[in-house]
Amino acid sequence: MGDIIKLLPDAIANQIAAGEVIQRPASVVKELLENALDAGSTRIQLILKDGGKQLIQVVDDGCGMSVTDARMSFERHATSKIRSADDLFHIRTMGFRGEALASIASVAQVELRTRRQEDTLGTRILIEGTTIKAQEDCATTPGTNLSVRNLFYNVPARRKFLKSDSVEMRHILEEFQRTAIAHPDIHFALHHNDQEVYHLPPANQRQRVVAVLGPNSNKKMIPVEEDADRLFISGFVGRPEAAKKSRGEQYLYVNRRFIRSGYLHHAILSAFEELIGDDQHPLYVLFLDIDPERIDVNVHPTKHEIKFEDERLIYHFVKVSVRHALGQYHIVPTLDFEPDHSVASSKFAPGTTSGMREKSISNINQTQRSATSKDWQELFTVLQQPLEAENPNASLGLDDPLAPAVTLKSGPAEGEQLSTHSGERTPTKPYQIHQSYILTPIKSGFILIDQKSAHERILYEQYLEQLQGQPARIQKELFPRTIELNPVDGQVIRSLLADLLQLGFDLQEFGQNTFILHGVPANLLPGQDALTLIQRLLEQHKQDHPLKAGNQEALAKSLARQAAYRRGTPLEEAVMQNLIDRLFACSMPYKSPGGRHCFITYELDELAKRFQS
Ligand code: ADP
Ligand code: MG
Repeated sequence: MGDIIKLLPDAIANQIAAGEVIQRPASVVKELLENALDAGSTRIQLILKDGGKQLIQVVDDGCGMSVTDARMSFERHATSKIRSADDLFHIRTMGFRGEALASIASVAQVELRTRRQEDTLGTRILIEGTTIKAQEDCATTPGTNLSVRNLFYNVPARRKFLKSDSVEMRHILEEFQRTAIAHPDIHFALHHNDQEVYHLPPANQRQRVVAVLGPNSNKKMIPVEEDADRLFISGFVGRPEAAKKSRGEQYLYVNRRFIRSGYLHHAILSAFEELIGDDQHPLYVLFLDIDPERIDVNVHPTKHEIKFEDERLIYHFVKVSVRHALGQYHIVPTLDFEPDHSVASSKFAPGTTSGMREKSISNINQTQRSATSKDWQELFTVLQQPLEAENPNASLGLDDPLAPAVTLKSGPAEGEQLSTHSGERTPTKPYQIHQSYILTPIKSGFILIDQKSAHERILYEQYLEQLQGQPARIQKELFPRTIELNPVDGQVIRSLLADLLQLGFDLQEFGQNTFILHGVPANLLPGQDALTLIQRLLEQHKQDHPLKAGNQEALAKSLARQAAYRRGTPLEEAVMQNLIDRLFACSMPYKSPGGRHCFITYELDELAKRFQS
């Protein structure tokens, strides 16, 4: 038998390659938009018919091609973007594999019109299933105009598998949106069946995101921006309360290339931990900028995935940056306590007040590189500092007529000390409402704290800290008490003895499922009984909060739930103040460990609006 191996004809080789790169009309759109971007265009127009099945046309005003290049562009492995293997590690262009046009031309009817600025005439090429049907000079504007008709006309099996026009259109829109978001300086337009779908003039980054995702997104977006040793991140994350039940509105780019990365998606979500429920999806539009040498884009034919040289570092960087942004923009207005609202706010002219605010925010930037609880504490102290000291000559004027009305208070006298700790000045008197909520003014309005959720959060973090190192102080019992348990409960408590001791419960086994309580946590609330707490813990364990040795979160959560102030408990002013201080010293003050909001913010402008009609 003779030799049997043969080189495949170009047309077939291209079709095989097309199978990887071109799955549906949206893949063509992606490749053509990328080519237009790489050509340095400032204006890119996408024209579609029937979900792209009949026509996909991209018109750009980029660099165009010479006659020879126009012909070459349809050859496989023909590219102007890299020349050597080494170039693969310095890629700044979207394309570089030189196979998109060859692949597309092998499975569709393609018409190219292109002209360089410096040429008087352009080139027109007609190519169908890799066969050149026509090539001639033509009159055309500078740039490139490429039409792709009847995708998969010669591969019926694939044509048949295309979905309905509307489904294909959805995929195309997705690609278009991803591209438009990442290039706000470029003018994009999209027409489908002669109707204008998008018209996006050049804009700044926020405007572009809003133009693409819709006006509702504007209010939701918190800016992210960090810079660390040749690693930059910028963009936006959604406010946690605006997270949706459905996925979508999640865009991650590396060097302006949209990528999918389960790993970095996880980094972003973990920054939202405890801020949103497990079934909720936050918006994000994030741009990572990394030295191309530190990534490999060439791991996937559609380049939707990339490899990072130092994945863990980038994971951490992304997480901390998002966390930082959330901390800064979510909590700051809330933490921005008004030191003595009725007096102070009316003392300052509006200009000076905003000056103050800037100052506290710049202080925050310094103190809050990463949002640890110590940082929050510092931040809180900064924000608590009386404004008077900084502006002794401020004039008295009622520039903010709403302020006294919404703070619902007459304000403590000058220098009045309400604080329970370290002689610090207390900003404002808190008020308890229905023995369940605490109202306290902040500069931009007021917050309403749910005393139980807030206290649970405080205790939860305190218990976790005790479990993980700093044991609680124990107060010895003068008359140790015993507790007798059934064998099942005895087993549970036995497995928790070491953890309970860390938490201040000095419980020792006396045999036969009997335990003796020798000491209790020194900081138990008045009226709280250690044995009752343990019994409640066991109750809860049986119902819906199982405790297991080693699961410290579960124990801390359960105990916090039992030990926190119930609703309906009257609280003294000093206690409320202490609770507020401690809540905002928490690393995650927004939510109780059970996922309830600890507080709600009411903004002055919101209130003003509500009074209007
Ligand atoms: P790649 O983008 O990977 O280089 P393509 O097959 O997409 O491969 O394109 C081949 C070549 O054709 C490009 O390298 C570029 O030189 C040229 N080209 C394609 N589209 C355009 C365009 N819109 N404007 C100018 N040149 C283009
Ligand atoms: Mg390309």
